[in-house]
Amino acid sequence: SYRKGGYHAVRIGDQFAGGRYIAQRKLGWGQFSTVWLAYDTQSSNYVALKIQKSAAQFAQAAIHEIEVLSAIAEGDPSNSKYVVRLIEHFKHSGPNGQHQCMVLEHLGDSLLRLIKHNRYKGLELNKVREICKCTLTGLNYLHKELKIIHTDLKPENILLLTSIDPAKDPVRSGQKPILEKPEGSLNGGSTMNIIEKRLKRRAKRAVAKISGRRGSMEGGPQKSVKSLDGIDVRCKVVDFGNACWADKQFAEEIQTRQYRAPEIILRAGYSFSADMWSFACTAFELATGDMLFAPKDGQGYSEDEDHLALMMELLGKMPKKIAIGGARSKDYFDRHGDLKRIRRLKYWPLDRLLVDKYKFSDSDAQEFSEFLCPLFDFTPEKRPSAEQCLQHPWLNLRSSTSNEIKNEADVKKLEGGMSKLGVKVGN
Ligand code: ATP
Ligand code: MG
Ligand code: MG
Repeated sequence: SYRKGGYHAVRIGDQFAGGRYIAQRKLGWGQFSTVWLAYDTQSSNYVALKIQKSAAQFAQAAIHEIEVLSAIAEGDPSNSKYVVRLIEHFKHSGPNGQHQCMVLEHLGDSLLRLIKHNRYKGLELNKVREICKCTLTGLNYLHKELKIIHTDLKPENILLLTSIDPAKDPVRSGQKPILEKPEGSLNGGSTMNIIEKRLKRRAKRAVAKISGRRGSMEGGPQKSVKSLDGIDVRCKVVDFGNACWADKQFAEEIQTRQYRAPEIILRAGYSFSADMWSFACTAFELATGDMLFAPKDGQGYSEDEDHLALMMELLGKMPKKIAIGGARSKDYFDRHGDLKRIRRLKYWPLDRLLVDKYKFSDSDAQEFSEFLCPLFDFTPEKRPSAEQCLQHPWLNLRSSTSNEIKNEADVKKLEGGMSKLGVKVGN
């Protein structure tokens, strides 16, 4: 992909926008772009520099993304709405063509990385709550104030404000920005590796100094779970390449498979409530480490039909009106509203699933599914909005984890929490 029309090759120390930004290291990449940590010499801050592939269709996509991100930034001057901020944008010419570049605020690891880092065991519910609050605040801003549908909400597209590994955070690790091209960088890879290794070592030393624990960053087997403690789990919504205004939709098929709402599969039209479905799938995944719906095609049925079957096994039968109401309904449902090719469904409701498979306590399972289930309504209009969701008491509960119960006071707190759990909410 590093050819005409493709990615722009970047070397550490490369300058952009007339020398304002200096590339530090690669943060990530996607189908459209590479994203670099860059130092902003004007504001003395680190930023994320997203450099789009140069071919016309990628440039066009970037222009759309810039339009959405500009609206987001304009409506949120104090940058407090938990959505990534566009700082500026410009074009950069290189050997592969002209590349649209977006300068974004620098964020940390994605929630997908966080889930992996926690070894797919699921995060503590208190952390899930904090992440849900930020995400819902972001969604409420997009939906209510801007009328924007994200259309691709998933753990990969929600980024923590900081890196999981403090050594990777340029501010926390106390490393100095690279302002010039490292010596001999023109000779290519080997020198680069030496410099990168040197920088990594320097960052590790800096962190060991801060934390006062020698070797605390070393890789041992217990590392990952321990180092999760104390991570500020605030986060922001990113990746607006597929976002649209509710009244200006262009794609019929939206969302990443596992986070796709039933109305998308059935081609029954969509609105903000499609994001709410994906949000609920994401919240489940954070709490359990597993994707809620992972459909596969099989003998005589498609991935879509399996997906619909999985939804009904969890949520019960789809109302007939919804089942037969989409442009694609006839592909999957007969006129009674039953799936054509998958006849026997094994009903396993969410609260039972959380207890049986994920070993939640009865009360945790009960409360969490009371929060999630309304979002999984097959009727899109019945799903709570982000604003309504933000009012849900589940977000303000605090469960004690077993190692937090150390004394009487903590037990009291736990009991207080339990009695709150007994209070029925909604409907
Ligand atoms: P996609 O195929 O997902 O649409 P894309 O080319 O549009 O990819 P992004 O998803 O925007 O690119 O970014 C690619 C990766 O770069 C992200 O997954 C993330 O790891 C990293 N990244 C993006 N934006 C930031 C940011 N603001 N701060 C830190 N890292 C970022
Ligand atoms: Mg992405
Ligand atoms: Mg994208």
